[in-house]
Amino acid sequence: MSDKGAKEVSIKGNKLECPVCKGTYFWRRKTLMNTAGATFLGFDWANREAINQVCSECGYVFWFLLD
Ligand SMILES: [Zn+2]
Repeated sequence: MSDKGAKEVSIKGNKLECPVCKGTYFWRRKTLMNTAGATFLGFDWANREAINQVCSECGYVFWFLLD
């Protein structure tokens, strides 16, 4: 995996570190959390936006919900 464009990330003043490979460079990606099943079941996070931080080393994905 190329790390072109990957960046170090801080969340609430804490540097994000991959729990799998200890990498500190992440890709940022915005995702809409809308699956038909979740909407049907009435989960209130069903149509919220989330930010993914994807480890540039191993591909581990963090999810952060946006308010
Ligand atoms: Zn990793």
